[in-house]
Amino acid sequence: MRFGSYRVDIPFDQLKRYKRLLLQFPAGLKVYAREIADVIEERTNSEVFISADPCFGACDLAIDLAKSIGADALIHFGHLPIPNLKIDFPVIFVNAVMDMDVQKVSEKIYRNVREKSINLVTTAQHIDFIHSIKRNLESQGFLVDIGEGDDRISKPGLVLGCNFSSALHGNANSIVFIGTGNFHPVGVSLVTSKPVYALDPVSMKIKMPEEIANEKDKLLKKRYSLIALSKDANKFGIIISSKIGQRRLELATRLKEEIEKMDKDAHLLVLDNVSPSLLRDFGKFDCLISTACPRIAIDDYDNFDSPILTPIEFEILVGRREVNKYVLDSIS
Ligand code: SF4
Repeated sequence: MRFGSYRVDIPFDQLKRYKRLLLQFPAGLKVYAREIADVIEERTNSEVFISADPCFGACDLAIDLAKSIGADALIHFGHLPIPNLKIDFPVIFVNAVMDMDVQKVSEKIYRNVREKSINLVTTAQHIDFIHSIKRNLESQGFLVDIGEGDDRISKPGLVLGCNFSSALHGNANSIVFIGTGNFHPVGVSLVTSKPVYALDPVSMKIKMPEEIANEKDKLLKKRYSLIALSKDANKFGIIISSKIGQRRLELATRLKEEIEKMDKDAHLLVLDNVSPSLLRDFGKFDCLISTACPRIAIDDYDNFDSPILTPIEFEILVGRREVNKYVLDSIS
């Protein structure tokens, strides 16, 4: 079925098995939530509820909410499953595939990419087209790799903001990211140290490796300044997300022990949605370390009252990692 520029294949037969469903959507799909709920109600005998909470990724499954309303399944839209997550509740993932002009995207790549050997990566909403693009590029003489990724990655070529493992596959000379924003291409550039191209399949603009390198330098400058600001920190807050696919308890407790061994103060702060306003009531921390979604420290640092570091940046702070070995935090 089509909703705006998305194709959403709802498995109605599978949903008919359940009496009560909770539907969960990321922000960009919430606008279609009522329409989708109506269709599901019409085509199944299920009673349908919509989660109005924020939803950030396949790591963020509203299982507790589903249980609290007596739903017998959660239908999670807009993300692919995370294979190595242990889930003790029926969750049905329904991806939303954004329209793409595969021919135009392929042409844009072969007109602009200088290296003939490339690794293709993309996000969930474009993943269905990646093999057609590969075939088109190969017919133009390119050698194209699509990496499998680790156990957090459900389809070859997929990258997440917390996992770039598919970009590490093979010996390609450059990486082509298909998708929007700078976060993923900069992350890929940090993890692979190869030239990265970023093609936005909606605007059809392509960022060349020099632009991505420039974005990477800007990010590194900011991150190094936050590490420097934390140099004399004595009071640390370690953030743990309760979300099933972001919860890194062991890492958080290890960080606490390490900080306490340095005769400094550390507290473990557990919350569902990590928001600066929820942390404010605890008074000032000299430094926060986020073990939750790696994007929080990178994208939202400006909104926090204290410098917020990733666990990787904490390693640099305490001298366990060399500055030139900086990478984005990842979850595997
Ligand atoms: S942890 Fe962050 S980047 Fe990873 S899937 Fe969840 S929301 Fe996306």
